[in-house]
Amino acid sequence: MNSKFGLITGTDQSELKEVPDNPGFLALPEAGTAFREMQKAAEKDGIDLKIASSYRDFQRQLTIWNAKYDGERPVLDWRNRPVDISRLTGVELVCAILFWSALPGTSRHHFGTDFDVYAPKLAPEGYQLKLETEEYGKGGVYHQLTGWLDANMEKFGFFRPFTDDAKVTVGTELWHISYRKTATELAKIQQESKEDFRKFIGGQDIAGRAVITCMIDDIFSEFLAA
Ligand SMILES: [Zn+2]
Repeated sequence: MNSKFGLITGTDQSELKEVPDNPGFLALPEAGTAFREMQKAAEKDGIDLKIASSYRDFQRQLTIWNAKYDGERPVLDWRNRPVDISRLTGVELVCAILFWSALPGTSRHHFGTDFDVYAPKLAPEGYQLKLETEEYGKGGVYHQLTGWLDANMEKFGFFRPFTDDAKVTVGTELWHISYRKTATELAKIQQESKEDFRKFIGGQDIAGRAVITCMIDDIFSEFLAA
């Protein structure tokens, strides 16, 4: 088993550190430092770049997954409309959840290299962040942030992994950025660890386990970003 298996599955936090000047948010040190540098540059340009979510552990992702599978939390379609999950087969339900939520143990938020970002001062006071497409697109409250990231994030080593319009299995996430160098290495290890993952997830108390274990090959080829 690869020595990074615990890291990539969100079950080993030992390499993570708090992002400098961003209390409460964990990342791998190099990614966190790069993020902080980008944040300072954004500040100079009048953008208060903030983290909404960075590292998330397996348990947290498992809680989200189980709540969606069991109908305790809405499953949204590509236009953010709630899906009537009572009409779906297990396979269809898994695919529907995977559009906006990663399978626990495969989320890039486990890597310590990925961040969901926003810029609270661009929005009206009291505005509640939703992390939805319309907020980051043309005319959206954070559209200016999208433009700033487009122009600058590459210099700091970041890119957006979920923007492949041709890939219709997962939603475009303009708010989700990834520290390319390390994330790409970890994504490669993730693909190489498929058989270990199959065993790992089979031993977890996850809703839809039987369906998921049958779908591991498809999930790894179609739903994970490189
Ligand atoms: Zn994200």
